[in-house]
Amino acid sequence: SRVRKVDEFTLTSYLPFQPVPRVNLFDRIWADLPLYKDQVALVSAETKKSYTFVQLQRYIANFGTSLLKKLHLQSNDIVAIAAPNCPEYPVAAFGAIRAGCVVTLVNPAYKNYELVHQFTITKPKVVVTFSQAYPTIAKGLQNAKIEAKIIIIDNPTQSIPDGAVRYTEIAENGEADLPLLEKIEKGHDDLAIIPFSSGTTGLPKGVEITYKNLLASLDIMTHKDYVLSDVANVTEQDVVPCVLPFFHIYGLVITLMGHWSVGAKMVTMTGFNPQMFIRVLSSETVSLLYLVPPLVDFLAKHPLVTKKHLEHLKYIFVGGAPMSKAAAEAFLLKANPRTKFMQGFAVTETTCMGLVLPKDGSNKNYDSCGDPALNIEMRLCDPESGKPVAIGNLGEVCIKSPTVTRGYYKNEQATKESMTSDGFYKSGDLGVYKPGKGLYIVDRIKDLIKVKGMQVAPAELEAILRSHPSVSEAAVIGVPHKTFGEVPKAFVVVKQLTTEEELKDFVADKVVDYKRLHQVVIVDAIPKNATGKILKKLLRDM
Ligand code: AMP
Repeated sequence: SRVRKVDEFTLTSYLPFQPVPRVNLFDRIWADLPLYKDQVALVSAETKKSYTFVQLQRYIANFGTSLLKKLHLQSNDIVAIAAPNCPEYPVAAFGAIRAGCVVTLVNPAYKNYELVHQFTITKPKVVVTFSQAYPTIAKGLQNAKIEAKIIIIDNPTQSIPDGAVRYTEIAENGEADLPLLEKIEKGHDDLAIIPFSSGTTGLPKGVEITYKNLLASLDIMTHKDYVLSDVANVTEQDVVPCVLPFFHIYGLVITLMGHWSVGAKMVTMTGFNPQMFIRVLSSETVSLLYLVPPLVDFLAKHPLVTKKHLEHLKYIFVGGAPMSKAAAEAFLLKANPRTKFMQGFAVTETTCMGLVLPKDGSNKNYDSCGDPALNIEMRLCDPESGKPVAIGNLGEVCIKSPTVTRGYYKNEQATKESMTSDGFYKSGDLGVYKPGKGLYIVDRIKDLIKVKGMQVAPAELEAILRSHPSVSEAAVIGVPHKTFGEVPKAFVVVKQLTTEEELKDFVADKVVDYKRLHQVVIVDAIPKNATGKILKKLLRDM
C-alpha cells in the first residue's frame, strides 16, 4: 500500500517522514548545477530568447545585487512581479529572493481594481513588469498611494518612461556582489513568496510561502517516488513547456523551480495560445506536461494535435480543477503508450503539494487524486462540526505538511479560520478516500469558482456589483461550462432600472477576462439564512 495511518483518521505517504533540511535555498536548487550548467535552462517560445543554467545563475545574482545597491532595497522589502512567463521571470523573482526580498506574484493582465487590492495589501517597493502593462501598473500604484520603482523587462531599444528602470541594466548588464549576497541569511520561517488566493472565503489574500515551504516542496518533487527524480538533464535533456502562469504557485514551484533544480529545459509561453502550443509540441521534444483539465481536453480533441506531437511524452501531470476519467482516457488514446497520467490535488496554501497518483501508472483511476505525497498528512473532517470522520467517509479535505503556509499575510483572522487547532489546513473541498484507489474530490464547499483552473473569488465580484448605483444586493456562484470547467453567474437585487448587459460590462471593466460574468439574473430577493449568510447552495440548485 502507498499509504500508512498516522492515527485512526489520518493518512500519510508510506514513505517515512523526512525532516526538512536547514540549507540555503539556492544551494539546494543548484546542488547538481555542474552537471548541466551549459544546457539551455529557459527559452521563450515567442521571442526565442534563451538562458543557459549558468546565465540564469549569474543574472539572478546580478539582479539581486542591483536591487540592494542600485535601487537601495532592504531585506524583506516586497518586490511584485507582474509579468507573463518569459526567461526573465525567474531572474526577477529569484533575484529578489536572492537579495532577501519577498516576492508577490501579480497577474499581469489585472486591471486597476485588482492591482489596487494587491498593492494595498503588499506595499511593494519595486514592480517588475513589461512595457505594455506599464500604464496600468503605474496607475494602480498611484491609486494605492504607493511609490515603487518599476522595472521593465522588454523593449530595451526604445525609450522607457521616466523613472522606470530597464531589466537589462540591472540583470544582464548588472554586476553581482557575491560576498554581499552570501551574507543574507534566511531561516525556515522567513517569508519568500506571497501568491494570492481567496482560500475558502472572502477576497483574495496573500499566502505566506516560507523558505521551509519551498525546501519541503523540492524534497517532495525530487524524491525518487516522483517524476523529477527521472528527469534527464544532459544527454537527452527533458523538455517541459511552461504554459501555466508563473504567477500561480503551480507554475512557479512545480513547473519552474522544480524543473530548474533538475536541469530540464523549460519553454516559456506568455499564455495559452493554441497555435503557439502546437508549435512548441512540434518543434521541441516535449517529454513532460503540467496542465489543467481544459488543456488536456484541448490536446485530446484538437484535430491539429496529432500522435506525433506527443511521441516523446513520458508524464502528464494534471491538477487545479476536477478531471474526469473519460477525458483522461481520451487524451491517453492520442498519447504514446509509455505516457503516464498523474492527477494531483493541492491548493496554493500547501505550496501546491498534496496528493498524487503514482508515477508508474499503476493506478488507472484517473479521476482519483491518488495518495498523500511524502510528508503530507491528510484527514477528512465533518464540515459542520470540524470533527475528523472515519476513513472511507465523506468530509472536508484537511492537510498538514511542512509545505503548509504559515498564514495569510497581515490577516490573522483569516489565518485562524483556515487552520484546525492541530495544524491542518482546511481546503474547502469535499472528498472521500477510497482505499486502494485514492482521494476523490466530490464537491467544493468553499466560496470559490475555478475558471480554466484559475481562481475567481465570488466575494470580489459581489463587491464590484454592489458598488454599482443600481444594485442593492448581489450573490455570485459558479455554474458548469463545457470548456472552462466553471464560469461566474450573478444574482442581483436592483433598486433602479438596469440591464443584464450593463452589469456584465460594469464588472468586465474592472476585472481580468476570465473573471467576467457569463450570466446575470435580476431577482426579487437573495436567499439567506437567519444570520444573513447567502445560501449559495440554494442558488446553485435553482
Ligand atoms: P489553487 O489554490 O488556485 O491551486 O486552487 C485550489 C483549488 O483548486 C482546490 O481547493 C480545489 O477546489 C481545486 N482543485 C485543485 N486540484 C484539484 C483536483 N485534482 N480536483 C478537483 N479540484 C481541484
